[in-house]
Amino acid sequence: MTEAPHLTFDLDRPGMTTGHLVVPKGADCEALSLPVFSLNKGEGPRLLITGGNHGNELEGPIVARRLIEWLPEAQTCGRVIILPVLNPLALQAWSRNTPVDGLNLNRVFPGRADGSVTERIADAVSRLLLPIADTVFDLHSFGPTWDFPPAVVTHPIADADLMPKTLRMAEAFKLPVTLLWEYDDTPGMFDTWAHSQGKVFVCAELGSGTVGSEALAIYEAGLRNALIALGLVEGKADHPTFRQQKSSRTLETLMSDALKSPARGIFEPRRSVLDEVKQGDRIGILHPMDSLSANPIDICAPATSIVLAVKSGMYVDTDARVALLARPLSL
Ligand SMILES: [Zn+2]
Repeated sequence: MTEAPHLTFDLDRPGMTTGHLVVPKGADCEALSLPVFSLNKGEGPRLLITGGNHGNELEGPIVARRLIEWLPEAQTCGRVIILPVLNPLALQAWSRNTPVDGLNLNRVFPGRADGSVTERIADAVSRLLLPIADTVFDLHSFGPTWDFPPAVVTHPIADADLMPKTLRMAEAFKLPVTLLWEYDDTPGMFDTWAHSQGKVFVCAELGSGTVGSEALAIYEAGLRNALIALGLVEGKADHPTFRQQKSSRTLETLMSDALKSPARGIFEPRRSVLDEVKQGDRIGILHPMDSLSANPIDICAPATSIVLAVKSGMYVDTDARVALLARPLSL
């Protein structure tokens, strides 16, 4: 008989509490104790904030810790639960997936109590934390191999009520981009599972490149805006400044908007994120390296669009995604 996942404290206790979410041990590793912060100020919205879903996306855990510093004074009602690191094993390895079982936590929800460690983490979160929340913010980032603006992302949701509600919540962050992202129908994502439980779930994609102070300040301001919109804290929401601009736009990107590398070689970006491009404009160049007689290949925009993401200059395989384009969302 395996031990059940549990919390080391009572989530219904009023006021601030810190403790752990215990993920039971299994055949592959010992039990994990994930630090949890809970601030219960009674009636009101119930928000769960998670970071460190992917272990090489460090902005989320940092911003989650910052929030814990000022929330006890700022929060006026409702409940906020913060789990800064969902997957400590991946974080310690600076790896997207868990090294022990090779699994991507964001592909195994709702998890399995008798599964491998990644599945046991998902099971503990699904069972003990998700049911308490009506809104979830999962803090991701695009990582060091991309240029990408600070954004809040949601995937298309079949539920006709939940879709506009989720989009409104995402826009309340007032980050430079709110994105409706058509994605592979990938099973096991945390957001898909939370949506199936009727939760408003938004995924913050907190920029890219190295972890920098300016980007972190933008993310923290975005989260504060979202907390104000929920009515959890008082104050006036404001657009954070990104590249000298205080604005945000709502964009849509489809599966067909991914530009792929026509060959293997070094990708050289020629555009920056949020650039507006026309059909035929060059987004980047692929330099084949296998032969000195092979010519560089232009990678061009197929239609008028906005550059959403560009791969950093790096060696890529044939068919690797090197850019994502987008356009203003029209619902
Ligand atoms: Zn991620």
